Amino acid sequence: MRNKVIAGNWKMNKNIPETAELISGIKAGLKDVPANVEVIICPPFTSLETASTLIKGTVIKLGAQNMYFEESGAFTAEISADMLKSAGSEYVILGHSERRVIFKESNELINKKIQKALASDLKPIFCVGESLEERESDITKKVIETQVTEGLAGVPAEGIANIIIAYEPVWAIGTGKTASPAQAEEVHAFIRGLVAKLYSQAVADKLIIQYGGSVKPDNAKELLGQADIDGALVGGACLKADQFLGIIKPA
Ligand code: PEP
Repeated sequence: MRNKVIAGNWKMNKNIPETAELISGIKAGLKDVPANVEVIICPPFTSLETASTLIKGTVIKLGAQNMYFEESGAFTAEISADMLKSAGSEYVILGHSERRVIFKESNELINKKIQKALASDLKPIFCVGESLEERESDITKKVIETQVTEGLAGVPAEGIANIIIAYEPVWAIGTGKTASPAQAEEVHAFIRGLVAKLYSQAVADKLIIQYGGSVKPDNAKELLGQADIDGALVGGACLKADQFLGIIKPA
């Protein structure tokens, strides 16, 4: 049995006082979380240290939303793995579609970031997903296969144990359109099969694959009930404590 992992991607939202307010709301509603449910929050860089202090002693874990693959140096405005760790992060979202589309991040760059994160003891939440055009052209699986294969290039089997893959169809992010549970399950099963081919069935069986794309309290239960959906990466609905808690509950 795999754990269920619910992560909130706060994106470019919440200053420091707002961070404290949201965490206080989440903490107040998080009661009796079973050991097989993990909760991760990914606030902006500027809130990581505050968040790290505020979640001490709770089940909530901390993640960042991006990082650069170099150790240090002249990379203005970039953030290193070591900086994230020293601010209390355990996870880092890599390859989010907003990074791929708006900031032109390639599979090769994402792969370098994944390798650096793993080498630095940070756990990547590695996002993959097809655009609407790609889905309508019936190349979803081909796109996912390329993203997964190139993103994980050179990552040894031991590394996969520390990676979460998030399947996020781009057409479902922030749009209110959710992939149906059957549509999502089909791609999740495909990703697990691909990881079994690239590594082994045992490695694939342990892999956590989250679904992301307009997950809300009212659709979470059905999505999380699918055989290969092991959690959710939540955008919009993680910015309000009651909604985020409403997604954690069915998990
Ligand atoms: C996301 O950006 O990771 C996401 C899933 O956003 P939303 O839940 O708002 O669709």
